[in-house]
This record gives sequence, structure tokens and C-alpha cells, in this order.
Amino acid sequence: QAKALGRNTLCFFDPAMQAAASARSALEGDIRQALQRNEFLLHYQPVVNEAGDMLGAEALVRWQHPQRGMVPPGEFIALAEQTGLILPLGRRVMRMACDQLAQWARDPRTAGWSVAVNVSAQEFRHPQFVAQVLETLRESGASAHRLKLELTESLMLHDVEDSILKMQALRTVGLGFSLDDFGTGYSSLGYLKRLPLDQLKIDQSFVRDVLTDPNDAAIACTIVALAHSLGLEVVAEGVETEGQRAFLLRNGCRQFQGYLWGRPGPAEALVCS
Ligand code: C2E
Ligand code: MG
Ligand code: MG
Ligand code: MG
Repeated sequence: QAKALGRNTLCFFDPAMQAAASARSALEGDIRQALQRNEFLLHYQPVVNEAGDMLGAEALVRWQHPQRGMVPPGEFIALAEQTGLILPLGRRVMRMACDQLAQWARDPRTAGWSVAVNVSAQEFRHPQFVAQVLETLRESGASAHRLKLELTESLMLHDVEDSILKMQALRTVGLGFSLDDFGTGYSSLGYLKRLPLDQLKIDQSFVRDVLTDPNDAAIACTIVALAHSLGLEVVAEGVETEGQRAFLLRNGCRQFQGYLWGRPGPAEALVCS
């Protein structure tokens, strides 16, 4: 009924709804303030090859909240997307990741590592996205060849032509592209063929029960085969056990990410020797 009254009509007929709405706007204000106070930071999770050697890491944003402690992205990314705050947040994330990449490049132990940054569809759609990434690379001195952007299938719901042009522009300077959470979104194999990708990431929901659920096993194996026949790399996400790793390896997957090698943590925690 509230919907029928139109977009600009505030109609709180339900105290629970009203409470939810005011919690949302409080959180929006908190995110705004957190950007000013620099409370966002990045944790990094290793991506490894079949020998267990580190190839790089995925950057995962965290909110170091003065009262609530370390807040995971699941609690604020969706609202940041709805409110447009994902744009300044995304730029901050890109800058921190590129600064980290430049720092790794200066240390022989870490010089070969790449970094993967999650980019929401809304950020990617922004007309200045390509220019901003190039500017951030320049400012930080990071190598574009070691920067990978993780996109999701939701990107394909919008302007695919525009996405392809942006990907091509960034590929020209050396960036790579990965399709995250593959298999959970609005996959269209037609789009997959056209997007200039480097990598598919098998979503962790297929990895979790890969040893016990034949359907998940079939899907995971099909994604590996699909990636290979399209000439793409494939990474399995959410690998927690040696059994999962062995199964995926046996079926052709050569790159892994998951608690088996480490939880996301501060960059300093990745360098052992
Ligand atoms: P994602 O990109 O698919 O990242 C993988 C998520 O799986 C991370 O959750 C990671 O901590 C978790 N994970 C890794 N290994 C395992 C495992 O072995 N088992 C299980 N159960 N989980 C594992 P996290 O850090 O909470 O991030 C959640 C999502 O938030 C990310 O999913 C990504 O979609 C989004 N996100 C994170 N950082 C950013 C960012 O900087 N920008 C944007 N736009 N989105 C971000
Ligand atoms: Mg990701
Ligand atoms: Mg994922
Ligand atoms: Mg995800």
C-alpha cells in the first residue's frame, strides 16, 4: 500500500519499518563520518597456486569502528551502494590497495604479488571510473600489471557495451579482470564470451559441499572446464579443507583461496620470512 502512494511519500504505518529506516539513516551518517575519520582499512587474503605458493592477495575492506570494533563489509557495503557512498569508499579502497602494491614491489620477498580489488557495479558504471583508476595508479606508483579488478555478474545487468569499453581501456595499461562469485548471479554465457576477462572465481557456495553434494561437485567441475575452454584462469574461493583442495586440483583447478591458507588479515601478517 505504501508503494502505491509513490516514491516520495513517507508512510510509516509500521513501527518496525520505521525503526529499520532510522537505523539505515543512522548507519549512513556513520559511514559518512567514518570516511572523514579514515576508519576504513584493508585486510588481505592469500591467493595461492597448486604448490601453495602465494600469487597475491585479495583486498577486503573492513571498518575499524571506535565502538563496534572490526565491522565486516556485509554490514555496510549494500547501504554504501544504495546511498552512493560506495564511490568515495571505493576510491579510498583503490588507493590503499595500490599503495600496498607499490610497497610489495619494493620488497624482494613480495615483489611478484598481485592484488585483487572488489569493484561494485555502481563504481564501475561511473563515467570517471577509468580515469580515476589511472590516476590512483600514477599517484601510488603501483604497477598496473599486478592489479586485478573483481567484478560481479550484476555488471551485465547494466550497459554491457560500456563495460567492455572500460575493461579494454584498462587492459591496455595492463590490468586484469576477474568475474567474482561466478555462478550465483545473472550468468549469461553470451556475455561471458564477450567480456574481456582473465579469470573466473568459483563461488564459495559451490565449494563448501563439493565433497558431499554431487550437484555442487558437478557445478564446480563445469566452471573449471568452462574457464579453461574459454582460455581463462580459474580460482576456487572458500577452500577450507585439504579434501576440497584435492578434489578441485584433481579436476583441473590450479588457484585457490580460503581459510586453508589463511583468513583475511593485515598486510603485515602475510610476510613470514
Ligand atoms: P568476495 O569478494 O567474494 O570475498 C570473499 C569473502 O569470503 C570474504 O568475506 C572472505 O573473508 C570470505 N572467505 C574467504 N575464505 C573463506 C573460507 O575459506 N570460508 C568462508 N566461509 N569464507 C571465506 P568478506 O571479507 O566478509 O567480504 C564479503 C564481500 O564483501 C566480498 O565477497 C565482496 O563482495 C564484498 N567486499 C569486500 N571488500 C570490498 C570492497 O573493497 N569493495 C566492494 N565493492 N566490495 C567488497
Ligand atoms: Mg572478491
Ligand atoms: Mg567471491
Ligand atoms: Mg561475495
